[in-house]
Amino acid sequence: MFRVIVPWEAMSISVSPFIVSLIVTLSAVQAVAVDSNSIKVRVWPERVQQGDACLIQLIPDGPFTRVALRWRKEAFPFHREEACDSYSLLFGIDLDEPAGKKKCQIVIQTSQGKAHDTAINLEVTEKQFPTQYLVLPPEMVTLNSEILERVRREKKAVQRIWKSSGPTKLWKSRFMMPLDGEVLSPFGVRRIINKERRNPHTGIDLRAKLATPVLASNEGIVALTAEHFFAGKSVFLDHGMGVFTMYFHLSKIWVAEGDKVIRGQVIGLVGKTGRATGPHLHWGVRIKNSRVDPLSLLRLKLE
Ligand SMILES: [Zn+2]
Repeated sequence: MFRVIVPWEAMSISVSPFIVSLIVTLSAVQAVAVDSNSIKVRVWPERVQQGDACLIQLIPDGPFTRVALRWRKEAFPFHREEACDSYSLLFGIDLDEPAGKKKCQIVIQTSQGKAHDTAINLEVTEKQFPTQYLVLPPEMVTLNSEILERVRREKKAVQRIWKSSGPTKLWKSRFMMPLDGEVLSPFGVRRIINKERRNPHTGIDLRAKLATPVLASNEGIVALTAEHFFAGKSVFLDHGMGVFTMYFHLSKIWVAEGDKVIRGQVIGLVGKTGRATGPHLHWGVRIKNSRVDPLSLLRLKLE
């Protein structure tokens, strides 16, 4: 096994000796050879941090029938980009993923039916998330058994949808902000509420006036609409291939489960439902069951 680490790419590729030679390129692209195929691998962003959305692109010399990333015993198929003859995977690094080098395999099936494994070391760098101290009325923080049961039920209903995403890519080009507003509370903030450590903030809070239209960040299907204890009136959009965006604390919901939505379509209005101290939009993103910073998704130049 030999390996080349290119620091500006924050990534290395290891190839088992039986998979022939390894060629290092001069640009931000790394190349490996699998059989007679030369494969280039790129990762965006160049420095992947905890809580980042990232894009892995494979540019092969010849056609493959299937390309997948193996991560924690799960296989995540790449999408074939016909326009640029490449394979891409929109992936997410959970905010609680420990920093360090991650070994993962890229499984490639050639058109001759041969399967190959190429090992990739994806380096996740540590991100310093800020700490926020909040003081809330005790009744908003201490939950009675009835509410705890409700919260558990709602959590289960949400967890079910993460498994429901289809294998087809539904998003078109880049994701967009659901509204134009300043970030009041960033992603990943460690929260101390009434002097007690609570769950980190897994989205961003955007400043907005009551009843401001909330736009779908990209094309997709409405996976869930709900009125939950914490999230209030909320919409969950499935953009395919395990990519979800969610919109919380709405005053009005203008879509229904199963609806197809287009990028920029109004899906509801800003409110302060659920556990919110004032009107704002909480916007969250989940990719392959990882909680990622919505702003990191916006930065990716997607096809
Ligand atoms: Zn929030």
